[in-house]
Amino acid sequence: ILMLSTVVLLFIAIWLAYFFAGKAMVPIKKSYARQVEFTTNASHELRTPLSVIHSSVELLEECKDVLPEFEQHILDSLQDEVTRMIRLVESLLTLARSDSKSLPIQIEKVDLVQVSHQIYQAIQPLALVKGIILKLQGPIMEHELTSFIHGNIDQIKQLIYIILDNAIKYTPSGGQVTISYRTSQDGRPTLQIADTGIGIPKDELARIFERFYRVDKARSRELGGAGLGLSIAADILSNHRAYIHVTSEEGKGSVFEIEFQSERISV
Ligand code: ADP
Repeated sequence: ILMLSTVVLLFIAIWLAYFFAGKAMVPIKKSYARQVEFTTNASHELRTPLSVIHSSVELLEECKDVLPEFEQHILDSLQDEVTRMIRLVESLLTLARSDSKSLPIQIEKVDLVQVSHQIYQAIQPLALVKGIILKLQGPIMEHELTSFIHGNIDQIKQLIYIILDNAIKYTPSGGQVTISYRTSQDGRPTLQIADTGIGIPKDELARIFERFYRVDKARSRELGGAGLGLSIAADILSNHRAYIHVTSEEGKGSVFEIEFQSERISV
């Protein structure tokens, strides 16, 4: 009888624990959903006034020459800060969307070689202004069709852009950034972005994909970084079941290698 009542009591205790744990999970899930919704709405609402300020500052920039030197400086920093805020708000919006998985993702056949070429052309002026040599190395592959992957073209472009933008941002003038394409030994389409920049300390490598993480906060902020780019990249990589390998040496440069899935994926 004693054993039987112990088993019954144990059973009731386990049931009660499950019941209350389940009840406790509901408010947590609800508050998380509310938090994601708030971030999405807030970043969305902030976009319009920011765009208005941005266009107004651009208009003022056109007649900047008539202003005294001090006011010209103020206008320039206004322009920089507004641009930075727009980027930050865009990043927050993308993160909130991917958190809530509310963004409908369209999957199509994407030609990595073609996309890299488009981005290379688009980003060339940025490299030129910074005095960086930007190179695109021809594809090294056995079969022409291996440069195709299945994925969302906008996200893939954003992923390459984030890594390329960082490579240019963290490479001093006179350096070099190279984009190259190849197929891995097991036939996976692989894109490599290498720079001869400042590099990343070994013990920080594991953390650079965390939200808001920056190795050198002052330097990153000065360059317009908010520590969000690579966390967006990580979300895109996981959506595409792609991998990234980062190798880096301080003062010498970094190599970001993205390995995509060769088979069809359903995101
Ligand atoms: P940020 O917007 O600050 O660049 P990211 O999330 O894109 O944020 O990157 C996180 C941090 O990783 C950066 O602040 C920088 O310290 C480091 N990092 C990223 N890419 C590079 C690179 N190519 N060379 C050196 N450091 C890099």
